[in-house]
Amino acid sequence: MSDKGMINSERMVQHFETLVRIPSESKEEREVALKLKQELENLGAEVFIDDADKTVNGNSGNVIAYVKGSKPDVSPFLLSAHMDTVPPGKGVRPVRKERMLKSSGDTVLGGDDKSGLSIIVEVLRTLKEKNLPYGDLEIAFTICEEIGLLGAKILDPKRLRSKEGIVLDSEEASVLTTRGPAAVRMDVDVIGLESHAGVAPEKGISAVRIAAEGISKMKLGRIDKETTANIGVIQGGVATNIIPNRVHLKGEARSLDPKKLKIQASHMKKCFEDAARKFFVKTKGKKTAGKVKIEIDHDYTRLNLSRNSRVVKLAFEAARYLGYPLKEGATGGGSDANVYNLWKISTANLGTGMRDIHTVKEWLNLDDFEKSANLVAQMVLFHAGNQP
Ligand SMILES: [Zn+2]
Repeated sequence: MSDKGMINSERMVQHFETLVRIPSESKEEREVALKLKQELENLGAEVFIDDADKTVNGNSGNVIAYVKGSKPDVSPFLLSAHMDTVPPGKGVRPVRKERMLKSSGDTVLGGDDKSGLSIIVEVLRTLKEKNLPYGDLEIAFTICEEIGLLGAKILDPKRLRSKEGIVLDSEEASVLTTRGPAAVRMDVDVIGLESHAGVAPEKGISAVRIAAEGISKMKLGRIDKETTANIGVIQGGVATNIIPNRVHLKGEARSLDPKKLKIQASHMKKCFEDAARKFFVKTKGKKTAGKVKIEIDHDYTRLNLSRNSRVVKLAFEAARYLGYPLKEGATGGGSDANVYNLWKISTANLGTGMRDIHTVKEWLNLDDFEKSANLVAQMVLFHAGNQP
């Protein structure tokens, strides 16, 4: 590893181990939030917890911290990670094995995204204790990222003045994610006509059959390199002897290309509409067909940073200086970076070393963890105009 890196890796790992032992599944981030608030205040930051908890019905808001830099002319720089984890995230016992930190196998580790939280705290500690010159920093530790980027979406953009930033919420420290999909969510109500299945099936329209017909005609899964689609929830029906008159479905589509996203969403809609028309009853010459009510919600905007954007250049300069490999990457998932970019904060997502996330086999690559922190510290310094 390059000796130009300046962060205290051992202290950061210990901090991380402390954080993962505090449970913080989505909507239950309070304890972690209060600990981080205290730590950031001890480091001289002005810290504020917003009231996003009210909207999500959780027990903590987003933690937002302002750190005064020693270089007043430099524009503020945003550092962000999320505080919530996926389940099972209670009772985490981290196990260290050489340059690997794992869960004990019955919970996730919580490296997603406590590795990001620890990197940000350690970067701040290092900058302070080494008395390095940097500009103002804005820190956002969000809630409920895992259940739809809710904390970031609710955060008031007026609280942030940064024009550039880094989200620490992906796997490899050698990958800077600069492209991510836009996504839509789809809520579908299929409406048939109720009738006794044994006595008068010809008087009924089966919502289950409409849904099945629609889905069977639908392109789902991986549509192309940039586009995916899924029907994830299907619910309906009451009893075997009733032709079901209602089925509810939920689905999504994602694409790096907004045009393709639009095409996929309308394709899915059309499959359901066509299917509904196919099933009908005739009474006294009057035709009644099935119906579908479809709501398509824009979930988040894509992430699409140019190689020439300032934050991407900064990351590559820092990697070059430290002698680390770095490449740009695209992801099929969303992160808080999608939201910040919507607010015109040019934000890339840097890997932290987290691996096999959202599983009980989750582990943290400690080499990547250290590299990621060194990269962020160096980016902050270069952003403030310090020369290599
Ligand atoms: Zn995450």
